[in-house]
Amino acid sequence: MKVALDIDGVVADFVSPFVQILEARSGGAIDLESVTDPNFTNYPFLSSELIKQCVMEVSDDPQFWRGLAPLPSLVEWQCLDLLSRAERLIFVTHRYERDHYSIHDVTCEWLREHGVSKPVVYFTQSAKSALVDKLGVKLFVDDRHENCQDVAENTEATVLMPHRSYNQSFEHPRVTRIQDLHALTTYLG
Ligand SMILES: [Mg+2]
Repeated sequence: MKVALDIDGVVADFVSPFVQILEARSGGAIDLESVTDPNFTNYPFLSSELIKQCVMEVSDDPQFWRGLAPLPSLVEWQCLDLLSRAERLIFVTHRYERDHYSIHDVTCEWLREHGVSKPVVYFTQSAKSALVDKLGVKLFVDDRHENCQDVAENTEATVLMPHRSYNQSFEHPRVTRIQDLHALTTYLG
């Protein structure tokens, strides 16, 4: 059974350092626990233009991605590594690819550093369901409810969504909310 994981918000803590950049560039204060929308649309001091600029700023900076803190526990990383060694694990991300450095290399190095022996990462700017379908993924994990909904409605994959403050209000009959990646073991056939 092939498993596909999102990276940011699932195995890498993207939101905390990104919120720091949003605060620094806007001068406004954002309480992490109060983030109920992953697109930050409900803060009056954050224009969509400023958010876009901050996204481009971090996308241009390999150090930003290298410095992200891991979210899984050691035991969870070991479970991911077993899947990786068995060539059952892939990562699917919407991270932007830029010309002046390889986000693919930076991402694979980061995953190896945390114990994933054979990282396989797909970058797409399209709906993730297309890749999930094409690659025959049976289990999909993502923290953004838009991606979970897309894959649940357009593929046969089982969809798991780790609980986060910014996805707490989302419910879907084909999306299962999990507390952490340990829950994955229940679904692995
Ligand atoms: Mg994510």
